[in-house]
Amino acid sequence: MLGKWFDSFLLPPLGWIQVEVTSHCNAACVYCPRTVYRDIWLNRNLSFSTFERLSSAFGNTKMIFLQGWGEPFLNPELMQMIQVAKDAGCKVGTTTNGMLLNEKIVSQLVKSGMDVLAFSLAGVDENNDALRRGTRMENVLGQIRLLNKIKKYLGKEQPAVHIAYMLLRSRLDDIERLPLLLQGLAVSQVVVSTLDFIPCNSSSHSN
Ligand code: SF4
Repeated sequence: MLGKWFDSFLLPPLGWIQVEVTSHCNAACVYCPRTVYRDIWLNRNLSFSTFERLSSAFGNTKMIFLQGWGEPFLNPELMQMIQVAKDAGCKVGTTTNGMLLNEKIVSQLVKSGMDVLAFSLAGVDENNDALRRGTRMENVLGQIRLLNKIKKYLGKEQPAVHIAYMLLRSRLDDIERLPLLLQGLAVSQVVVSTLDFIPCNSSSHSN
């Protein structure tokens, strides 16, 4: 207990802490380092015990974001990690490709008090599915509708729906069609990113 207090005292306040809970993924997006480096990529889950050790720093931040290069819902201990972060008084969010969600998991998320659930996209039509191999845009939109339905049923405002949109050079014009695609989905924030790391020349056309 004293150790936790001491750690918090020494650490500067942080706006948020990002934790990569897994480096496994069920997709193979063409621009992703883990796709390009798949032959040498280390696929691992962060253990719950290691996560608990990190939690001594949670008193110094307001937000824990559980995401890195990987699909967070492949870590079977994700729900427990969300609970630890919520119990520490932090807001909690993650980003998903949406392919592993179902009614049971979405209900658990809403009941957990999770604050932000961001869905990844890189296009507004079938080109999204070609770039984000192993995912389907229609499935992502369906999961957002399911989340909104369950939130309404349970009388909850959270988690807020965010979109993590990867803007690629080859699909620049798509961004104009994004507002129409998301209309009626109660999306509260769209974060548009460009590639800040180009893992090989063959993926540079996407930047
Ligand atoms: S879903 Fe994310 S981690 Fe998985 S391949 Fe695509 S960009 Fe990479």
